[in-house]
Amino acid sequence: MKPNTLTQRAAQGGPRTLVIGDLHLSPGRPDITQAFTRFLDEELDGADALYIVGDLFEAWIGDDDVTPFSDQIAERLRRASTKLPIYFCHGNRDFLIGPRFARRCGMTLLPEPEVLELYGETTVILHGDSLCTEDREYQKFRRLRNRPWFRMMLLSLPLAMRRALARRARAKSRMHTQQKDERIMDVTPKAVDALMATHHASRLIHGHTHRPAIHPLPHQRHRLVVGDWYHQDSVLVITPGHAELTSRAF
Ligand code: MN
Repeated sequence: MKPNTLTQRAAQGGPRTLVIGDLHLSPGRPDITQAFTRFLDEELDGADALYIVGDLFEAWIGDDDVTPFSDQIAERLRRASTKLPIYFCHGNRDFLIGPRFARRCGMTLLPEPEVLELYGETTVILHGDSLCTEDREYQKFRRLRNRPWFRMMLLSLPLAMRRALARRARAKSRMHTQQKDERIMDVTPKAVDALMATHHASRLIHGHTHRPAIHPLPHQRHRLVVGDWYHQDSVLVITPGHAELTSRAF
C-alpha cells in the first residue's frame, strides 16, 4: 500500500466518502488531537460524508463527564458537521457515547451494524470487535456490556468510580492484549462471511484490529480495515467503483 499525502487526498475531486476510526483521542496525546483537527479543517471539503467507526476516544465514561477536552472535540466536530454529515458507530472504548454527546458533536449515532448502499455497493459498517469471535473472554464481556441494565448501572455510578473502572479496564486490556495470540485478536473469516451474507453485502468496513488493509474476498467482495492514529493517520477514501486506504505521518 502506497502512503498517500494530504495534498493527494485533498486533491481528489468528485464524490467521495471518508472513513476513519481508532483515533483513541485523549488529553495525554495532543499530537493525535492536532492531527484530527487538521484533518477536519482541511480534508472534508467536497466529501459526501464522514464515518467514524468507533474508538474515537481512548475512553468514554458517560456523556455527563463534560471536560474541557471533550468540549473541544465536540466543538470541532460540530463545526465540521456544518460541512457534511458525520456518522458514528460505537467502539469498545467509547460504547457509552450517547445521544447527548452525539448531538453536541452534530453527529448521528449508527446502529450496529450499519448497512447502506454506498455508490451502488451494499456496504456493512461496524467497529469490528464483534467479529473477533475467537476471543471468547472478550465476547462474554461484550454481551454483558450490551445489556441495557448493565449500561444503566454503569452510568449511575459516580464519575470518580467510573473513571477508576475505566483505568482498570484499560490496564487489564493491555495485559490481555500482550498475552493473547495474534490470531485471536483478529476478526474470524467465519464471522465476516456470516455478517456479509446476512446483509448481501459486497463490502465490509471496520476498524478495531489496527491492521489497515484492503482484503479481497471471493465473489468480488472486499473487507476494508482502517488503521489507528497512534503514529500516523489512516483515512479510507471511497469513491464510486474504488476504495483507497491512505495514511499520513503526524
Ligand atoms: Mn476497538
